[in-house]
Amino acid sequence: MVKVLEQLYEGKAKKVYKTDDPKIFKVHYKDDATAFNGLKKGQILEKGQYNNQISAIFFELLKKKGVPNHFLSLDGERGMLVKSLEIIQVEVVVRNIVAGSLSKRLGKPEGTKLPFPILEFYYKDDELGDPMINNYHIKALELATADEMKMIEEIALKVNEIMLEYLGPLGIDLVDFKLEFGRHDGEVLLGDEISPDTCRFWDATTQEKLDKDRFRRDLGKVEEAYQEVLTRLTGGSK
Ligand code: UDP
Repeated sequence: MVKVLEQLYEGKAKKVYKTDDPKIFKVHYKDDATAFNGLKKGQILEKGQYNNQISAIFFELLKKKGVPNHFLSLDGERGMLVKSLEIIQVEVVVRNIVAGSLSKRLGKPEGTKLPFPILEFYYKDDELGDPMINNYHIKALELATADEMKMIEEIALKVNEIMLEYLGPLGIDLVDFKLEFGRHDGEVLLGDEISPDTCRFWDATTQEKLDKDRFRRDLGKVEEAYQEVLTRLTGGSK
């Protein structure tokens, strides 16, 4: 058992704590929700619990399939122990279906299926509003090395394949999602969370949104959507 020490960082949806083992952090998932780079703020009841459990299920699945990630174990309803990461300041978005900012940028309707997954990179910088960047910017800004980016791209596409295969039978379309990576003992690991805050999940039959777009767009039934995702992932046992 590790001992949880002082808070290292507080983000929009999570807090990170040091532990008495320098290689292990504790992540606490909050109910706070933000959108539009923090302009819209609110709370989603029990979101912390749902996102903690949903992320744990995905991280376990990915570990089983050979994708290196920071998850170690659940620690309470809203917490998990993770390997300590030095976060790489690049947000990686994978898209299977047009939605959100891509729809606006390219003038294609939401719901348009892409012929193959699209990868995008954003500079993780709240003050700048996370601008989109490419591999040249990443190299010039020394955010990551070419080798690290090769690894990150490979992992991101593998995560997409694994999640598509897993979510298909659960009646969930994986529209798009955002990943973050970090360095631990010289290795690149997948970090952050994988939840309805960071993924777009649509019901495969009704195309109903089961993710944070319900909050962003004031669609109602926000908590219910997060709960529904967890229920499907746990085979209706929750
Ligand atoms: N996303 C995220 N954090 C961000 C921006 C995007 O988790 O700061 C996720 C978002 O939930 C969606 C995907 O990345 O699943 C693509 O988001 P998009 O670029 O369409 O931006 P949005 O429309 O959410 O502003």
